[in-house]
Amino acid sequence: MEYNHPICRISLIIPHKNIPLMERKITISQIRDAAYQAYSESKEVSGGANANYIPYLANVNPELFGLSVTLANGTTFNFGDTEYKFGIESVSKVPTAILAMIQHTPEGVLRQIGADATGLPFNSIFAILLEKDHPSTPLVNAGAISACSMIAPQGDSSEKWKAITDNITDLCGSAPQLLDELYESETATNFNNRAISWLLKNYNRIYDEVDMSLDLYTRQCSLGITSSQLSIMGATIANGGMNPVTGKQVHSREISSKITTMIASVGFYQHTGDWLFTSGIPAKTGVGGGVMGVMPGLFGIAAFAPPLDDAGNSVKAQTAIKKFMQKLDLGIFNGDQVTIVPE
Ligand code: GLU
Repeated sequence: MEYNHPICRISLIIPHKNIPLMERKITISQIRDAAYQAYSESKEVSGGANANYIPYLANVNPELFGLSVTLANGTTFNFGDTEYKFGIESVSKVPTAILAMIQHTPEGVLRQIGADATGLPFNSIFAILLEKDHPSTPLVNAGAISACSMIAPQGDSSEKWKAITDNITDLCGSAPQLLDELYESETATNFNNRAISWLLKNYNRIYDEVDMSLDLYTRQCSLGITSSQLSIMGATIANGGMNPVTGKQVHSREISSKITTMIASVGFYQHTGDWLFTSGIPAKTGVGGGVMGVMPGLFGIAAFAPPLDDAGNSVKAQTAIKKFMQKLDLGIFNGDQVTIVPE
């Protein structure tokens, strides 16, 4: 049989006729309707609280809520506050991990940082002490600071910053904007991250100047981004590294697969297993209230709402993305061969 995947065409030899795989077609309007319903049904969900350890985030309007879906053909659906620029925070770890893999290969990142889940909170020092041979993964604070230190050109803060933001612009198809007030707020309060940086230096896992690497990390977390932009970033990853809106090949298919693996294994920190089990989609969260999901070959999805659960993950964004996946009966591990068709 021939399987038409949006990225590649594979001929499969099916050895037994009762293999329980389902070939399914989902229409673009079914996707739009599912997104609208997921958004509407999640609007009144309460619970959680804004991050309060970064003063700027504590003061963001907790009622803001947006949901965006971008298909692998570039079609984007936006519902709610999808143009509000919120702090990207830890979702920024994804593009910088991609950039580190572009510059140093996935094997280089595996060797210098790692690709293992910590099972511990995002800012854990204990995780570094447990695995001092590597900072585990570029998707927790320790590995993300280490990733910033790897970005070329070495020793040049402004060129490194340009490389980091240019890459985010390529992935989203439009530029993020530094939120100066958030940057000042984070810089004034990032004592735990300073401890992480120097501990990593002690284990030879910072590959450039320590304070510069931490500053780049703090700055990238302080970028303002919209859920619409994040859904395009998710779609670029889902689409084998080609931005479906601009048509630019930002990174290789191999890097898409590697970053999606990292997102699947640690995107929700100590709640990653529960998240993947219940939602069926690899996703990365940030304490600014954003969540970005990647459904390989199909779409990127992003939701934003500031109140967080105890692990730092947006309560409403989680609900909306789960509802969306359930309405379409989708799941990365369910074995279905899904094609999105016009009607
Ligand atoms: N800037 C935040 C920190 O380093 C990001 C944490 C997150 O979003 O999980 O603490």
